[in-house]
Amino acid sequence: MKNNLPNNVERLIYWAAGHSNILPLTSQCNVKCVFCSNLQNPPGVEAFNLKPLKTEQLSNIITLLDPRKPVVIGESATRINEGEPFTHPKIKEFLSTIRQALPHTTIQITTNGSLLDAGQLEFLHSISPVTIYLSLNSLNLRRQIMGDLRSENAVAAAALLGQYGLNWHGSVVAMPHLTGWEDLKETISYLDSCGAQTIRIFIPGFTRLAQAQLRYPGTMPEQLRQTVAELASKTKAPLTVEPPLITDLQPEVAGVIPNSPAFTAGIRRGNIIQTVNGKEAFSRVHAFYMVKKTANPILLARNGAKANKVVINKAAGESSGLVMEYDIDLSLIEDITQISLRRSAANTVLLASEMAAKVLTMALNKYNNDQLFTVIPVPNLFFGGSIKTAGLLVMDDIINTLGDYLKNKYSTPDLVILPQIAFDPGGRDLLGRHWSEIESIFSIPVEVL
Ligand code: SF4
Repeated sequence: MKNNLPNNVERLIYWAAGHSNILPLTSQCNVKCVFCSNLQNPPGVEAFNLKPLKTEQLSNIITLLDPRKPVVIGESATRINEGEPFTHPKIKEFLSTIRQALPHTTIQITTNGSLLDAGQLEFLHSISPVTIYLSLNSLNLRRQIMGDLRSENAVAAAALLGQYGLNWHGSVVAMPHLTGWEDLKETISYLDSCGAQTIRIFIPGFTRLAQAQLRYPGTMPEQLRQTVAELASKTKAPLTVEPPLITDLQPEVAGVIPNSPAFTAGIRRGNIIQTVNGKEAFSRVHAFYMVKKTANPILLARNGAKANKVVINKAAGESSGLVMEYDIDLSLIEDITQISLRRSAANTVLLASEMAAKVLTMALNKYNNDQLFTVIPVPNLFFGGSIKTAGLLVMDDIINTLGDYLKNKYSTPDLVILPQIAFDPGGRDLLGRHWSEIESIFSIPVEVL
């Protein structure tokens, strides 16, 4: 099939580097996690497995990377399946090449940790600044849920990372129905005791094709959030559950990295950031980025009923140490509003994932008083299971939902806005269909944002 030609994959690699500073090294992995999303795709999905990147490819890709942002390794990029970076036979050589080309840029690596040993950590320290995201997942049952025959290496790596002076964060894919709640709590406490700066706990998604053991009871996410909230009052490291359950746009601090500038300034978990240098914070994301980009920002932060002025001593662009859940970026709301105005649309319909629809509605209502926006949640029927994300919506999901909506309406919208993340750089969904079909089927102008 034409789209499976290597040059198409190569284009995606370059796009990931230029657009997101992601450097896909390989799709190969040394373990086989029961929750791995790479194993659950319905047939027909365009997801590509990348052989270990070659030296010539690396040289070309490096020229596209933005030295001001971290170079991200080990995260999935568009349609390229992520693998374990340390399985790459030339990992040290490649990392040294990146360091030479970008001497001051942080290299951010996500790893399952079972190939990390003292030698690797010493090397990583020698090419600082490096930030490691260690996916430990389970302290006691990695072998069972990840098929990891070197589990003890990953557990030992957590203890060693701090000793080698590396910045690092822990992560856990929560599978309490397989590992038990005690293992989950022990895993989080262990990462905390080893000095993880933050710990992210992921609720795994499963598709309609996932194996039976991956399917957890519907009550699990709520129980997980409660368990993590209880633990968060005891751990030094801020804990976050992803995806978060957002019910408002209050810029509430989820946690503060110990000894960071925000910590030293006295900001704590549960504080609400009202203003930054006098400017009202629209959302958590807005507050976070205003603080990040500003030198010595002055915050009005509320702690219970009391609001205090607090100065965070830091450089512009430097991390403050604040950890905030992801709600919505103000610039997205501004862009939606601008496009709607530019198109003179009095009735704009936005199609969003089931997960994002409520937040988007809240944000549009907060920002706009006089324009009519309707947000329609689109179920991920093609992927099914527990999936509720825009990145896995396909054209049929969108066409069916929009068709049903229009059947029950007397007036046709002037404009339909689709989520950009459902489409590749060429405008095609995961099954290869272009979004412009929507314009032809419904005869309504479409924008992708
Ligand atoms: S470590 Fe990551 S890439 Fe490897 S099997 Fe697990 S989830 Fe998949």
